[in-house]
Amino acid sequence: MRAALIADIHGNLTAFEAVLAHARRQGGFDEVWCLGDIVGYGPKPAECIDLLRELPHRAVAGNHDLAACGAMGVEEFNDAAARAALWTRAQLDDERKRWLASLPHVERTDDLTLVHGTLRWPIWEYLLSEDQATTQLALQETPYSAVGHSHIPFVAIERPGRRPTLRPAGPDETVALSGARAVVNPGGVGQPRDGDPRAAYALYDSDARVVRFLRVEYDIATTQRQMEEAGLPRWLSDRLAVGY
Ligand code: ZN
Repeated sequence: MRAALIADIHGNLTAFEAVLAHARRQGGFDEVWCLGDIVGYGPKPAECIDLLRELPHRAVAGNHDLAACGAMGVEEFNDAAARAALWTRAQLDDERKRWLASLPHVERTDDLTLVHGTLRWPIWEYLLSEDQATTQLALQETPYSAVGHSHIPFVAIERPGRRPTLRPAGPDETVALSGARAVVNPGGVGQPRDGDPRAAYALYDSDARVVRFLRVEYDIATTQRQMEEAGLPRWLSDRLAVGY
């Protein structure tokens, strides 16, 4: 099984399309495994939902997906995120909202568990530290898990008899998972936050037991123009250019 690990699309259709095209040039994938926050912040929420649903996929819910479908309020969001969430909610018809509301919070494949935040708090916890990775590894029933939410690519690896280590995963880095347990974050497709504005994703090969972290240039100006036309907060489009 070859899966494209995709997190935090955030309604950025231009970035999502660029990632899919790039993944196909890398030999393609059998399924897209989406780690949540398909919508929120970005200008094309319905189109991103539709594109994901056209592909063979598995997906879990993120905090922005639950806010957009009305399953959760926007009180926990900062001002710009709340405005974008309410705008997103107004763009989605009932059928798409029902689909978002139906997403599981945790999804398990044969050897990899998908969750937006962490297994402890699937919707809200940012997994950023080795302590949190240790907790995640203790809770996961599969050798591997993949998370999103922080928009920062990393890999946490636990080798037999050793404490887990967590480190950023660099562009075009291939990590061998054989004989280890691991947590990976492929980074954000639609709103990277590690200082690199390129869209981030990963390709997971369950036969070879490797994950490859990738970055893709996309037309940021197009997404920014769409955000301006939609009247979305300027700060949200400015940050795309710097990757924070
Ligand atoms: Zn997100």
